[in-house]
Amino acid sequence: MAEILSSGEALERALALLRAGDVVAIPTETVYGLAGDATNGIGVARIFEAKGRPRFNPLIAHVADMAMAERLALFDPLSTKLALAFWPGPLTLVLPQRPGNGIHPLVTAGLDTIALRMPKGFGGDLIARLGRPLAAPSANSSGRISATTAQAVAADLGARIKLVVDGGATPVGLESTIVKAEEGRVRLLRPGGIAAEEIEAAIGMELLRGGAAGVEAPGML
Ligand code: AMP
Ligand code: MG
Repeated sequence: MAEILSSGEALERALALLRAGDVVAIPTETVYGLAGDATNGIGVARIFEAKGRPRFNPLIAHVADMAMAERLALFDPLSTKLALAFWPGPLTLVLPQRPGNGIHPLVTAGLDTIALRMPKGFGGDLIARLGRPLAAPSANSSGRISATTAQAVAADLGARIKLVVDGGATPVGLESTIVKAEEGRVRLLRPGGIAAEEIEAAIGMELLRGGAAGVEAPGML
C-alpha cells in the first residue's frame, strides 16, 4: 500500500523515487498528478502502467520555469504571451518540440509537439529540485474521474504506487485548459481550469474552437 506523506515532509522521498525511475502521486493546483521523470522511459512507462492508460494518449510535461520550458519546446510570440500571463497555473500549451530535448517519446506518443504546463506549489518545487521535467497525468485509473484528495488517490492507485504526497484538497479541482497557437491564432483543445474568456482577454482575440483535422487532444475521447 502506498505511503502517504504530507507535502511539508515528502520532498526528499519523492526525489529519491523519481531519480530511481519510479512514480509519485503529487498535489497540483488542478487535480492530483501521477508524476514520473519525463526524460526516463522507465518512469514514463510506469505512469501508463499504473493508470492503465493507452499509450497513444500523450502526457503533459510539467516544468519549473520558463528556461526549462524553452529547452523543451519552440515558443512563438502568442504562446510566450500566454505563458507569461498564466504560468504558473492551470494552462497547458501545445508547442513544437525542440529537437534533442531529451523528452522520452512515450510522453508525447511520438508526436513532434509537446504539451507543457508550469504548476504551482509542491509540483513546481519538486521539478526545480529534480532539475528535469515531470510527466504527470491525473492520478486516477484511466477512465475514472480525477482525484482531488490524497485519500482518493490512495484508494484508487494505492496498491500500484509507493508514495502519495498529501497537499490537501486541490484548489481548482478541474484539469488544465489546453490551447495551441497556430498561424497567429490560438485554438482551444480542451476546456479546463482557466476560462476561455480569460485567455481571450489576455490575447485580445477570440479562440478558435473545435474543428481542426482529426482529434488534436486525444484525452477528450
Ligand atoms: P491529462 O490526461 O490531463 O494528462 O492531459 C493530457 C492530454 O493533453 C492528452 O489527453 C491530450 O488531450 C493533450 N495532449 C498532450 N500532448 C498533446 C499534444 N502533443 N498535442 C495535442 N494534445 C496533447
Ligand atoms: Mg485524466
